[in-house]
Amino acid sequence: MDYKKILEEIAVEIEPLRHVGRQADYIPALAKVNPDRFGICITTTDGDVIEWGDVSEPFSIQSITKVFSLSMCLSMLGEKLWSRVGKEPSGAAFNSLIQLELDRGIPRNPFINAGAIVLADILLSNLADPEKDYLDFVRELAGDSHVDYDREVAASEREKGYINAAIANMLKYYENLDNDIEDVLHFYFLQCSVRMDCRQLSRSFLPFADRRSEFLFGSVRLTASQVKRINAVMQTCGFYNDAGEYSYLVGLPGKSGVGGGIGAVYPGRYAVATWSPRLNEKGNSVMGMKALELLTTYTRESIF
Ligand code: GLN
Repeated sequence: MDYKKILEEIAVEIEPLRHVGRQADYIPALAKVNPDRFGICITTTDGDVIEWGDVSEPFSIQSITKVFSLSMCLSMLGEKLWSRVGKEPSGAAFNSLIQLELDRGIPRNPFINAGAIVLADILLSNLADPEKDYLDFVRELAGDSHVDYDREVAASEREKGYINAAIANMLKYYENLDNDIEDVLHFYFLQCSVRMDCRQLSRSFLPFADRRSEFLFGSVRLTASQVKRINAVMQTCGFYNDAGEYSYLVGLPGKSGVGGGIGAVYPGRYAVATWSPRLNEKGNSVMGMKALELLTTYTRESIF
């Protein structure tokens, strides 16, 4: 498969979308990013790296971080995790408060904000040094010790994070948060603030595509069956209320973030990361989604 040639074709085809959509500005620090960027990087299970565009410019991975939090929580708690958070697609916005009330404080899945705030609470309760241990795990996955939090983005999000604060308060009311609300929010925003470029993101998703090696990074160990299940949750919940559309168009387990990034996997073959800050109305990258749609169309490789 000539992925290089395919990426070049895709780049030409998506160029008209470069100014379509709006970057997230509800997090003030994200409004400062140049929105007219696009990068894509494929890392294959054979170790090849194929890339095009702005692949070495770091961006805020935002909700993509929830895949890493879920991995840690699942490795620590196993199936017990699902008593605190569900695994059904939400069909609602990623920051929906009304759904959490109807569900009486059990978030629909780990990839909406409410679910990821519960994951942050679990990690705070179970890790010896949460900020360090989390970052160490993400660095191991990315194979790069330079990956770091962006404390300015995290502080900026906290300052305007009224809805996430409301979600955390409701979780506490329903006794689904053990730790102090402020501590949980601080850690959640910090996780979302992790900066990576497309190369690092693609590499950190590779273990979710790799069917040959064991998933073991530091103290985080997942069975092949757990990796399969994380992919399943990505497929059904990774794009919030756009998950059906994303599945229909792309057909690869994936996770988006409001920083404009997407991480996705073609199980057994490759991981791919895209980045372009302009988002559709559901909060997913316009150019990124189109690029992945064309990738699975041109290669005829998808899980369907
Ligand atoms: N930090 C963001 C928030 O909580 C993450 C949302 C996202 O990337 N979809 O709103």
